[in-house]
Amino acid sequence: MRYIQGEDRSQSALFPLSLDELIPDDHLVRVIEAYISLLDFEQLGFDKARPKATGRPSYDPADLLKLYLYGYFQRTRSSRRLEAECQRNVEVMWLLGRLAPDFKTIADFRRDNSAAFSATCRAFVQFCRHAGLIAGELVAIDGSKFQAVASNRKHITPKKLKHQEAALEKRIARYLAQLDEADRGEEGESIDRSAVQATLRELQVKKANNQTCQVLMEAQGLVQHIVGESDAQKMRTPSGKFVAYNIQSAVDAEHCLILHHEVTQDGADRQQLEPMAKAAKAELQQSQLSVTADAGYSNGEQFQACEDASITPFVPPNRSVNNQGGGTEFFDRTDFKYEERSDAYQCPAGKMLTLKQMSKGDRIYQATIADCSVCPLKSRCTKASRRYLTRHAHEAAFERMELRMQARPEMMVSRRSIVEHPFGNLKQWLFGNGRFLLRQLKGARAEMALAVQAYNLKRAIKVMGAHQLMALMG
Ligand code: SF4
Repeated sequence: MRYIQGEDRSQSALFPLSLDELIPDDHLVRVIEAYISLLDFEQLGFDKARPKATGRPSYDPADLLKLYLYGYFQRTRSSRRLEAECQRNVEVMWLLGRLAPDFKTIADFRRDNSAAFSATCRAFVQFCRHAGLIAGELVAIDGSKFQAVASNRKHITPKKLKHQEAALEKRIARYLAQLDEADRGEEGESIDRSAVQATLRELQVKKANNQTCQVLMEAQGLVQHIVGESDAQKMRTPSGKFVAYNIQSAVDAEHCLILHHEVTQDGADRQQLEPMAKAAKAELQQSQLSVTADAGYSNGEQFQACEDASITPFVPPNRSVNNQGGGTEFFDRTDFKYEERSDAYQCPAGKMLTLKQMSKGDRIYQATIADCSVCPLKSRCTKASRRYLTRHAHEAAFERMELRMQARPEMMVSRRSIVEHPFGNLKQWLFGNGRFLLRQLKGARAEMALAVQAYNLKRAIKVMGAHQLMALMG
């Protein structure tokens, strides 16, 4: 028996294969080529979109964007690895016409075109909308933390700095004591005075730097700072606390395409519902929209703002059940009936709680001492001399939300199935559960825009097929 034999390396062909013959008709690189040919690079704001009349010619941003889209599609994000792919990968050779830019050119292109990548994402969303891939009936909003370049070791707080300062002071005191002992002749010739003095100088410089950091943080009101990546924040994630960015996405329910994404520095999602919903609505160019998100997005003010903008949110209201007794010991807020006409609450004993004062927009109501002191239900109502009740500044929006969620309980199941797909893909498929490669917000935004663009392209190919997609791209 023989093994299957390969071709002789020195074999020459009568009709050598062209690069084009090596690439199948429905290959990814052909889709990327067709898509890139649609884009107006000048309008999208790419650097060097118009070639200079004089000087050394630069690379066409179209070629470099093709390279990055291919790279993110293939989980190759590093500029050095992309440089290597240009020299050995037949698919990249076809895509770039055998151009082989060096890693610095490739890296500079990504660094300098962060805003243009986001514009390209928006352009692809519009293409998908016109291609019928986006229904715009329901949009799910979610956030996920992606690790920054900087590690946890670079995270400093005023408390950590104080600890470090105390440790430095201890070490300095120890070395000074050694020098004193040597001066008194107790350690004899055993210590190297110049080495100890050099270490002391080093420690004193560290202590001075530490103190400067403390002063600067206090002056700027910072509670945390990441050395080398000031835009990042230490955030809580399911697997611990990491230096990260909070990536927000608004995903269309029809085919799980990402309509809008944002790289944020806020570790919580509470302030994100309104801006994300409004951005998704603007992308969809619709007059009405329904959005869903988890309880982390619960925010009465933003519920109201969404309703005012013709957006119907479906978010589980996340609120304290009672403002007295922890929600179990005493009557719950829902046991009191609000009467809008008289702006007062009726308690379970039928007495009225009237408005006492406003506090940061919230309205505080109180019963009368006369009513409560003789009330047979008092032991179930309050330990104080009278019962107080707080009405949230946007209580009506919370109440409407509760009714909406009761009417559509399936919304939470839909939400999960819509948003988990893109984030699962972005994290595992594109980032390989790794971290960003570029520092600061600008870098993270550039990388996330490329990743989202690659994800959306992959989804469009999966749903439509490469041939039909290319036919639509013309
Ligand atoms: S204690 Fe006061 S507020 Fe509570 S049920 Fe009795 S009268 Fe109403």
